[in-house]
Amino acid sequence: MDFKQIVSHAKEYGFIFQSSEIYDTLAAVYDYGPNGVELKNNIKEYWWRSMVQRHANIVGIDSAIFMHPKTWKASGHVDAFNDPLIDNKDSKKRYRADVLIEDYMDKLEAKAEKEIKKAAKRFGEAFDRDQFVTTHPRVVRYLDEKNKIAKRLAQAMKISDLADMKQLIEELQIACPESGSREWTDVRQFNLMFSTQLGNIAGEEGKLYLRPETAQGIFVNFLNVLKTSRQKVPFGIAQIGKAFRNEIVARQFIFRMREFEQMEMQYFVRPGEEMEWYKFWKEERIKWHKAIGSPQEKLRFHDHDNLAHYANAAVDIQFDFPFGFKELEGIHSRTDFDLSSHQDLSGKKMQYFDPELEKNYVPYVIETSIGCDRMFLATISHALQEEKVPDAKGKESTRVVMKFHPSIAPVKCAILPLVKNKPELTEKAQRIFDDLKFVTQCQYDEKDAIGRRYRRQDAIGTPYCVTIDFDTLDDDSVTIRDRDTLHQERIPIREIADKVRQRTDMTVLLQEIGD
Ligand code: ATP
Repeated sequence: MDFKQIVSHAKEYGFIFQSSEIYDTLAAVYDYGPNGVELKNNIKEYWWRSMVQRHANIVGIDSAIFMHPKTWKASGHVDAFNDPLIDNKDSKKRYRADVLIEDYMDKLEAKAEKEIKKAAKRFGEAFDRDQFVTTHPRVVRYLDEKNKIAKRLAQAMKISDLADMKQLIEELQIACPESGSREWTDVRQFNLMFSTQLGNIAGEEGKLYLRPETAQGIFVNFLNVLKTSRQKVPFGIAQIGKAFRNEIVARQFIFRMREFEQMEMQYFVRPGEEMEWYKFWKEERIKWHKAIGSPQEKLRFHDHDNLAHYANAAVDIQFDFPFGFKELEGIHSRTDFDLSSHQDLSGKKMQYFDPELEKNYVPYVIETSIGCDRMFLATISHALQEEKVPDAKGKESTRVVMKFHPSIAPVKCAILPLVKNKPELTEKAQRIFDDLKFVTQCQYDEKDAIGRRYRRQDAIGTPYCVTIDFDTLDDDSVTIRDRDTLHQERIPIREIADKVRQRTDMTVLLQEIGD
């Protein structure tokens, strides 16, 4: 399915709405509808249980969005959480200079990829990709140019050389995607934090920020958690919560929002052991993605060209979104940067006494950070499929189906009386619903022909549909239909709960990750 279809399906079936739609919407802010909130909660539960429940040495917190303003001084966000901004003089549109350049590099990569695909088709089995990429003159030129630009951009970003970024945009003759114009302003830095003002303190003193990441709530609570949870290094602190960034370019639906949710875990380790744990968490996180059904070919690691001020190693897990491979999750080796900065600014010792080494140190940190909304987008864009299936009369028809892992589906089981104007059927169905609602998220639906109701449930990814028909009244059995195989089976009413639980219980999913 293409991106447009995914966005309209998400709206039509109550997953995602644009914010404040009746007032013509608020850009880059989205609301989750009835099915969306179920799916999002399930994704969060999957993450939380895989982190906190599965690891005896990881505990959770829920810190406030507002934090003391000094937090953001220490973390470097006041001084360095900037994006390079550029305006087009003709269209008056605002862009991130680095994104304009990255888009240009993506085009070079796409051109090279096109040549590679063409050759692969021509040579068939005998095709040697590595050899082709290193010898074919056009491909070599595209990739060389891309690498040169990447290096220059990384350097310019590192030392904040805004003039060179402007120069690069001019040299590459990048035009405004909106107007085609090449009339650009200079590049300027733009801080991404939203600020607000405390009511009882005037001026700078009362200036607060909406947190741009949840991680700092973990760092400032390091000592509290250490004392109260009696954990020993290595141990982790996990948190799920809202974050806010005043993104300059907000496009691609819920991929880049101004208000979003993060699922972050900071893992505190001995200095010197961070690379070992960095490797461990890279593998662990990929396992998490695969268990939920993201196939290997849609996931890849991408090392950062341009390390953030706090990191000594960083990698993204990229997902093949409908608009290409983009960052879904970041894994960062943050050294002791955050704890040491807070120690310096607060004067409180952010140290751990290691009983085995018999010494104090500021732990190093490995962070895993994933956007819940991006995970949501990856999940629906992968799950949504159109396929040919036989209809009730055996003829071929098309259905749209969300093939979520059953344990994260918004509705686990639909209860459907065969027809709606027979009270004996609807009452029986209602009674089944009333029992099952204590077990899992169910939906009762009696409107329209049964085939249409099946399609509605397919469209929101419901793994099971239970149909109550006239035989049910005689023998207390129902038909249960499997979303994926379309197999229909007759089972006693008393077995519905177990049957549904077998595939939809989150435990199944957690076990798939392994130890
Ligand atoms: P990007 O390069 O895409 O702006 P980032 O590298 O700034 O992302 P991090 O600071 O590493 O992102 O944040 C961790 C995770 O939070 C990201 O991997 C992403 O899933 C999510 N995230 C970051 N910014 C946004 C946003 N504006 N909207 C939705 N999710 C976001």
